Amino acid sequence: MNYTEKDKKLIRIAYKDLLRPFIDNMNKEDKAAVRKAYELALEAHQYQRRKSGEPYILHPIEVARICIEEIGLGPTAIISALLHDVVEDTDITLEYIEKEFGNKIAMIVDGLTKFKDLNMDNLSPQAENFKKVLSTMAKDVRVVLIKMADRLHNMRTLGSMPPHKQLKIASETTYIYAPLAHRLGLYNIKTEFNDLCMKSLQPEEYKYVADKLQETKKSRNEYIGEFISPLISKLDALGIDYQISGRPKSISSIWNKIKTKGVEFEEIYDLFAIRIILDVPLAEEKLICWKVYTIVTELNTPIPERLKDWVTTPKANGYESLHTTVIGPIGKFVEVQIRTLRMHEIAEKGFAAHWKYKGVKQNQFNVFDSWLDNIRDILENQEGDPVEFLQDFKTNLYKEEIFVFTPKGDMKILPKGATALDFAFSIHSEVGYHCRAVKVNNILVPLGHPLQNGDQVAIETNNAQKPSENWLNFVITGKARAKIRSSMKEERRKKGELGKETLMRKLKGVKADFELNVDMLVSHFDFQSRPDLYYAIFKETINIQKELKKFECIGGKLSIIEEKAEQKEDKQISPKEPTHFRAKRNFTGKPKLMIDNQPADQFKHSLATCCNPVLGDPVFAYVTSLGEVKIHRNTCPNAEHLMANYAYRMKKAEWIDSDNTDFLATLLITGIDGRGVAQRITGFITNDLKLDMRSISMDGNQGFFQGRISVVVNNKDQLRKTILALKAMDGVYSVIREDQ
Ligand code: MN
Repeated sequence: MNYTEKDKKLIRIAYKDLLRPFIDNMNKEDKAAVRKAYELALEAHQYQRRKSGEPYILHPIEVARICIEEIGLGPTAIISALLHDVVEDTDITLEYIEKEFGNKIAMIVDGLTKFKDLNMDNLSPQAENFKKVLSTMAKDVRVVLIKMADRLHNMRTLGSMPPHKQLKIASETTYIYAPLAHRLGLYNIKTEFNDLCMKSLQPEEYKYVADKLQETKKSRNEYIGEFISPLISKLDALGIDYQISGRPKSISSIWNKIKTKGVEFEEIYDLFAIRIILDVPLAEEKLICWKVYTIVTELNTPIPERLKDWVTTPKANGYESLHTTVIGPIGKFVEVQIRTLRMHEIAEKGFAAHWKYKGVKQNQFNVFDSWLDNIRDILENQEGDPVEFLQDFKTNLYKEEIFVFTPKGDMKILPKGATALDFAFSIHSEVGYHCRAVKVNNILVPLGHPLQNGDQVAIETNNAQKPSENWLNFVITGKARAKIRSSMKEERRKKGELGKETLMRKLKGVKADFELNVDMLVSHFDFQSRPDLYYAIFKETINIQKELKKFECIGGKLSIIEEKAEQKEDKQISPKEPTHFRAKRNFTGKPKLMIDNQPADQFKHSLATCCNPVLGDPVFAYVTSLGEVKIHRNTCPNAEHLMANYAYRMKKAEWIDSDNTDFLATLLITGIDGRGVAQRITGFITNDLKLDMRSISMDGNQGFFQGRISVVVNNKDQLRKTILALKAMDGVYSVIREDQ
């Protein structure tokens, strides 16, 4: 095999480390299967190296180790983790895995392979993919747990990636993996994700908090000792085994407080929490937790509103613990967390620990199962738009839950903020569709009424009732949204049929052929698809009779009457956009753009308003059915559609960079998406910083944006100041310079 002696030694050590913690508890067959998976992966990855230069096989071994030690998974997961990259990266097939390891492992490896392409470049296929992965997860949750381990190892070794890749991976982790880890109860992993992301996206801020924590370590430890010592003597008197410790909070959570509360590091009172972990039998858990709570609050005055009882009602992600904040020595606030060993394991290992304790006794509500059921419900609705699905799914990840009841006393778990209508859909989609009136605690309420913990909800249905578009404003759950949307789409399709009939009739009226003209009309009105055109005709947002007068019909084919075309062009060139965009579109003077290797002025051309290309953007030219040339960015949302359907109308287009004297720098910016964020940033750069921009692209994906802006600067110092100024902008999360 293609490994050096040094590699072999490294690999041997890693594999031994992997086996050590569980080798004694495994049966012969499992041991043999793990060994077989290891040997297969070792051979399959022999020609690959990681970016750091290490043999690739160290990655699957480490992922398997995280699965065992940090998530608490067993042999099936270890085998799958060892094999997780072989189908994607080597010539081993899924069929082979199935033959050698059985269909369970093949199914998990397949799920992990599909997860591979999940990236932010292409939201739509990614969302589609993500949906597929979730269906696998609904069958076997280990797929996602192993994926978490994979991502964790990649995040831990992020330093060896080039900066733009780091940015992408870290953004993706913030966007979907950290919330998912939270929802799966992988509390430690979520915290580590957030810290590692911050380290890469905001290195200066990260270092600031880390240094401060280090500086204050000694005095903090003294304080913790002072707080703990009276507790210890009282706890000892209980005669149970326990651990007590004081631990600093994570860097990202401290930074979050500094940022959201606008305070200094020194002003944050809960830099650490005291944790008491009790080793007690299951039956006595609650009793002893509350006993310890009494001890803590007898020694220190509690702040009642900060008592959080997740022992009686666990969190949606399975977290159980009793938290209280008390006033400690010298008047400082101190958070105390009280839990049992079992609760602690669930808090650390989430889902996996949940399975382990499943047979014993779970918290009274099977929170994970109900969450998985919920995902299955959303997935069943296969018609849903994947992007919408991803958004619905994501917004449901962080939500706290409430417990409400049917008139018969059955409990339903819904996300906090759920409405009466959400409740109706949670009972059954038919109940949702025909929901006419809702009574909460016997009082009639509107459909959008938000429910509270403990509400009793009764739904009245009527078959004449039908969902309408504005129902989307009344619901927050993914299931309800998906069902309403699919019902709307069906409605739209039906109405579109009517619109299509109208169009056919009108075309016949002017003796134009339907098939010859319909796609031309779709692009003439800037629609994405035929159904969009049909629907607009039905809704009369387009008066098709009037519009057809702008065309003449020759031999069944419509063509626009020339002067009208001019008018349309004018309309498109004066959009309501900031002036600095328009300045770039001035084609007077030297040609800045080449189409098909000829100066652009030789063509009747304009810049597409769907993607607003500016000088420097990679672009292509598209000849419209009217014979004019539109310049689109390569990343234009319509590009894929145009290229797929009208490849023959493509022409090469490129910008000519006439002056290279200045220094061009590309900045990668991420932040919170809000309306007009691109405008604010570009406005700031041109008006406040007075810099010239060469290209800009912004992708906003549900609450998060990623932008790439090229600016012209004179020197590095100006670049540094620009980065700092942009970072200070509201909503901007990170700014880094892309390596050239
Ligand atoms: Mn991997």
